[in-house]
Amino acid sequence: MSTSVEKTDLNEKVRDIGIDATPPKEVCNDPNCPWHGHIKIRGRIFVGKVVSTRMSKSAVVEWSYIKKSKKYRRYMRAKTKVTVHVPPCILLKAGDLVKIGETKPISKTKSFVVIEKLGE
Ligand SMILES: [Zn+2]
Repeated sequence: MSTSVEKTDLNEKVRDIGIDATPPKEVCNDPNCPWHGHIKIRGRIFVGKVVSTRMSKSAVVEWSYIKKSKKYRRYMRAKTKVTVHVPPCILLKAGDLVKIGETKPISKTKSFVVIEKLGE
C-alpha cells in the first residue's frame, strides 16, 4: 500500500481552502466554517473592517474603494457593506480588520464568510 498520509500534527484538523490565509487557533464544529466545516469559498475575496457584531454568528463588514464617475469625470470614494458569517472559532469585535470570502448564500442576507482576522 502506498498511503503516505502525513500525520505530523494531530491538531491539524483544518482544511486546505485554497486561499493564502492562516487558519484560526481555535477549532469549531460549525458546518458553515471555511476551516472546519464544509463550505466552499468561491468568488471574490475582500479585506474589510468590522462595523457591527451585534448578531450572533454574523457581522457587518465594510470596505471602501475608488470609483470612477463618468458624469463628473473624477474619482470618488464608494463603500460596500455586507453581512458576513462569523464561525465560532474566529472572535471579532467592531473595528477589526478581516479577510472575507464569497460563498454560496448562507442565509437571506449572508453570502460571505470570515476567513481570517488580520488585525484590530
Ligand atoms: Zn471553525
